[in-house]
Amino acid sequence: MEPDIKSRFLSAFFGLLMPSKCPICGKMLRFGEVCICDACLELCGTYKKCPFCSYPLPSEGFTHDCKLYGGLPFTGVFFIGEYEGTLKEAVKAMKFSNYSKLGIKLGLKLSEKIPFSGESNVLVPIPSSRNTRRQRGYNQAEIMAEAIAGRLGFCHLPEALIVKGKKKNQVGLSRGERETNMKGKMSSGRQFGLIGKKRAIIIDDVMTTGATLAEAHRVLKKSGAKEIYAAVAAIACS
Ligand SMILES: [Zn+2]
Ligand SMILES: [Zn+2]
Repeated sequence: MEPDIKSRFLSAFFGLLMPSKCPICGKMLRFGEVCICDACLELCGTYKKCPFCSYPLPSEGFTHDCKLYGGLPFTGVFFIGEYEGTLKEAVKAMKFSNYSKLGIKLGLKLSEKIPFSGESNVLVPIPSSRNTRRQRGYNQAEIMAEAIAGRLGFCHLPEALIVKGKKKNQVGLSRGERETNMKGKMSSGRQFGLIGKKRAIIIDDVMTTGATLAEAHRVLKKSGAKEIYAAVAAIACS
């Protein structure tokens, strides 16, 4: 098959599988828009205040260096915005399989907030439990990490961490309960040794109390990583 015909055939084929409507505003997607319309994507990531200290922030040109990070042990936390409005809808939609490619869009948007590049950085997505993975067929943190790694030239290690046993549902639990719930639930996977002395960035979709990220940090500390950051699509403000 001619390359041109082949690519046209492939895009027509995938076009059938891809959703035709924006999950947020319901408008038909135009040529070049994947899983979300440009207007809604633009609205993702506007914020009024720092999610950790409530310091007022402009929606553009975010340079506030908080150092609080909700009491979490990270060197820094990167995020697109608050878990509300358009961004909240986009993060929720990414969990439905026909909108899984939204993870690429949000990953690329998140990559704009990360001031590093090159192979001395490794991305470690929060693993999903075997059950969730079987039901959903993919891990949205991994899709985001893949997009960020491609854009910034990072090394992507989706198998550096694994979940031990079942990850209990965290909804409705307090921060203390979530921490107890998560403790000891993650361990090192077969790519753990590849982290070495690099800068590790843990990727997840939403940070709520930070219990999951804190558990990942507890395990990653043993890898010898130079610094450990977290990067999430959205932060749920308390
Ligand atoms: Zn839209
Ligand atoms: Zn702050």
